[in-house]
Amino acid sequence: MDDLTREFLDFAREKRADLVGFAPIERFDDVPVEHHPRSIFPECRTVIAIGKRITRGTLRGIEEGTQFDLYGQYGLSWLADRMLAITTITLATWLEDNRWEACPIQDLSPLIPPSGIPVRRDLPPPNVMIDVRAAAGRAGLAEIGYCGEVLTPQYGPRQRFQLILTDAPFEPTPLLSESVCDLCRECMRSCPLGAWVEAGDRTVTIAGKDMTVAAIDFAKCRQCRNGAGPNPHHPAGTPDRLGALCVRTCVAQLDEAGRLQNAFANPFRKRPVWTRG
Ligand code: SF4
Ligand code: SF4
Repeated sequence: MDDLTREFLDFAREKRADLVGFAPIERFDDVPVEHHPRSIFPECRTVIAIGKRITRGTLRGIEEGTQFDLYGQYGLSWLADRMLAITTITLATWLEDNRWEACPIQDLSPLIPPSGIPVRRDLPPPNVMIDVRAAAGRAGLAEIGYCGEVLTPQYGPRQRFQLILTDAPFEPTPLLSESVCDLCRECMRSCPLGAWVEAGDRTVTIAGKDMTVAAIDFAKCRQCRNGAGPNPHHPAGTPDRLGALCVRTCVAQLDEAGRLQNAFANPFRKRPVWTRG
C-alpha cells in the first residue's frame, strides 16, 4: 500500500470512520454528466466513500415498538448530518493539509431534479446529485441488496455514507467479490403492506457487478408505519427504510445466518415482530 493511502486510512480509523473505500474516477465512466463527480470537480481522480455504522442498538426501540425517536436521531438525522458529516469534513481537512483538494458530498438522492439552468451550454444544470450509495459500491465497500438498500459485509444494511471527491491519487479498493445478500427474500416477505411486486425482480449493475433487486412500490412505503419515514431531504427521493420492518428483517436474517463481520453475543430478533397495516 502506498504511503498516502496508508496514512489516510490510519487517520480515518483514529477518527472512527467505520468504512473507507477508494474508487478511481474511471469506475464512473458509465455515469451520465448529470450525476458524474467530474461535473462538480473536473480534476477529481478519486472518490472516497466514508461510512459510519448505525449501531444495532439504535434499532432496538423500533424493533420493540416502544421508542422511535432514537433511530431518527442516532440512525438518521444526527448520524448523517452531524456525526458522519463531522467525520467527512475532518478527513477532508486532512487531505487539504496535505495539499490535495477535498470536496465533501452529502447523501442526497440522485432522483432530486435539477434546481437551476446550466451556467454554460456545455455544463449540466445545477444541482448535480451523485448517487452516493452506488458510489459506495464503486469504492469496493458495498452492494445493493434484494431489499433495495446498501449492504456491507461488516454491517449489512446498518450504515450511512458520504463522499469526498479529491484530486489525490489513492490506491483503489478492490470491488467486493462475495455477495452479502443471499437472496433469501425474507425482507420483502415480511412487508405487511404488500409493497413487494413479486414478479418484478430487476438487475442493477454497478461497476460491472450485477445485483438482483426487488421491485418495490415506494408509494406504499411512503404510507408505511412500520419504521419507515419520508426521504429526509426531498419528496422525490426514496423513503427512508433503514428502520423499517423489511430492512430490520434483513438485519435479523444476516445476523442469524452469521453473514456479518460485526457479530453479536445475542440475536437481534428475540420476539415475534409487531406490524401495522
Ligand atoms: S433479507 Fe435476504 S434477500 Fe433481503 S436483502 Fe437481506 S439477505 Fe438479501
Ligand atoms: S418500508 Fe414498509 S411498506 Fe415499504 S417494503 Fe418496507 S415494510 Fe413494506
